[in-house]
Amino acid sequence: MDRKQWHRWIFTALNLAAILAVLYVSSRVAPSSETKEVSYSDFLTELRAGHLTTVQVAERELIGVLKPEVTNAKKPQPEHRLKATRLPGVDESQLLKELEDQHVSFGGKIEETPWIWGVLGWVFPVLLIAMIYGVGMRRLAQGGGAMTFGKNRAKIHDESSRMQVTFADVAGVDEAKLELEEVVDFLKQPAKYQKLGGRIPKGVLLVGPPGTGKTLLAKAVAGEARVSFFSISGSEFVEMFVGVGAARVRDLFQQAKVKAPCIVFIDELDAIGKSRSSGRQIGFSNDEREQTLNQLLAEMDGFDSSEGVIIMAATNTPEVIDPALLRAGRFDRQVLVDRPDLKDRVAILRVHARKVRMAEDVNLETIAARTPGMVGADLANIINEAALLAVRRGGEQVELRDLEEAVDRVMLGLEKKSRVMSPEEKERVSVHEAGHALVALTVKYADPLHRVSIIPRSIGALGYTLQLPTQERYLMTQPQLEDQIAVLLGGRTAEELHYGGVASSGAADDLERATALVRQMVTRFGMSDPLGPLTYGRSLAGKFIKSSFDMEERNYSEQTAEKIDEESRRIVETTHKRVAEILMRRREPMERIARELMRKETLDRAELDALLTAESPDHATLTPV
Ligand code: ADP
Ligand code: MG
Ligand code: ZN
Repeated sequence: MDRKQWHRWIFTALNLAAILAVLYVSSRVAPSSETKEVSYSDFLTELRAGHLTTVQVAERELIGVLKPEVTNAKKPQPEHRLKATRLPGVDESQLLKELEDQHVSFGGKIEETPWIWGVLGWVFPVLLIAMIYGVGMRRLAQGGGAMTFGKNRAKIHDESSRMQVTFADVAGVDEAKLELEEVVDFLKQPAKYQKLGGRIPKGVLLVGPPGTGKTLLAKAVAGEARVSFFSISGSEFVEMFVGVGAARVRDLFQQAKVKAPCIVFIDELDAIGKSRSSGRQIGFSNDEREQTLNQLLAEMDGFDSSEGVIIMAATNTPEVIDPALLRAGRFDRQVLVDRPDLKDRVAILRVHARKVRMAEDVNLETIAARTPGMVGADLANIINEAALLAVRRGGEQVELRDLEEAVDRVMLGLEKKSRVMSPEEKERVSVHEAGHALVALTVKYADPLHRVSIIPRSIGALGYTLQLPTQERYLMTQPQLEDQIAVLLGGRTAEELHYGGVASSGAADDLERATALVRQMVTRFGMSDPLGPLTYGRSLAGKFIKSSFDMEERNYSEQTAEKIDEESRRIVETTHKRVAEILMRRREPMERIARELMRKETLDRAELDALLTAESPDHATLTPV
């Protein structure tokens, strides 16, 4: 509990105490205290003795006043009023008669409950409800959900105390680091910038694919500048209750201003900063997100970066961010954090290798070369997996083989050795993978073959053929795409050949990928002559909304749709024919690979090469086609 909460509890407790005190006092102050309680029989005795002047018959009691000559007192005292409780359910006509006989003046009296009770009877519940409501509303305004009366749920992480990340921990993003140097410098000595009057960027948006180190970089900026680091994730803002997100934004900025100089980091900015217009376009209107976004915009406008608060944010979908957020004076500086290239991957591996005991002869370059397309998070994962594998092996150091196995694990998933296949199925999978492998070894533009295996590594797969590009590829030519489709069709075609045209369900995934590729060639890359260099269909997914189902705006006619189908089929069928020719011509090596796969289950490149060169009758023809 923080101090504010304590105050609130004390306030509530005092309120309750006051109410209880009023109740207690009011019960004491009742007029009945001015009488003397006697038993019914004593009362009767006094009455029969003729000591009473008047008697009041109330609902529950009898009050009689003693005659002055009996008491011998000048002034009436409280004890001269006798009070007796009436006997419940007893016929008192006898009593009335005796009262008459004694010539006592008597009358009835209706007991009144003290007014305070009446008032409290309705004031108290109202007060109680108001109090609960008030506390709840205050909670809500301070950022907790209305349903969570327990703990304040605003997650604003001040990580300044354990902020040890520096630029040395972030490798391979040199341009981004260069851009952020300025921010670090400003946070270190704001006075220098204030004197010159230069305007420091308020907001820095880190843009890049997941796992490239955006969060890490933001922390490193705080670590380098030695300032506080407040972080909150965009998705934490967006809750069920309207207004909660906005309150959290307000809270975040309030806290940050107190702790300046500091960094406020909003992870997954797209969760709140999604373009407002696009939301409406699709038909959702998300009030909560809009309020949160508006509050964020207002807060960003409402302070001056000379106060020493720098807002950083990260996203992997910059195209969905609301343009209002990217305007000057808000996130006006964008820093690209891209996928690492070969040299960067080596650097990232080195950073993480420092944390484990690495064998002397391990060459991280070979690992980097094997992992094109992987991001920093994957590489960190590889080093970690390798260390675990080394431990499991009982080794003293992490060796190259651990790293190689770790790459496979991260890239392909765990081996699923436990699956038992029938010999027939094993043969079919071997033939299938041999087909992929041989096509990959034959066509000119396929990525180099690395390994072929009939031990499945991913869910649904029965085997795999691993090809590894030697370097980053930023674009693909038409022949490269066609050869990629050829390799994909290799498995299915080999099955057809070996089993006399009988296909199996095992090629579904290959066919799906081939179809997706060919459709892209036709509709996106303009690689079909009849359709020309145009794009067909405009994808809505990714651009405006992120959704699991791919929405497409169709901007072409029915005839064109038919043509697209026709062209896609033509390209696939031509490629299929080419693959069939290759495999027919190399039937013998294909069968040989399949047999060897049945026996050994996994063949790496060296084994494949040896298999194909050794006493191969058609060895001479094994040149690219
Ligand atoms: P993002 O926020 O871009 O999704 P993170 O910053 O969360 O990625 O990265 C996850 C982890 O991956 C980091 O904690 C770090 O261990 C590792 N990592 C990612 N990029 C790098 C990098 N450039 N250098 C070193 N480690 C990195
Ligand atoms: Mg992140
Ligand atoms: Zn396949």
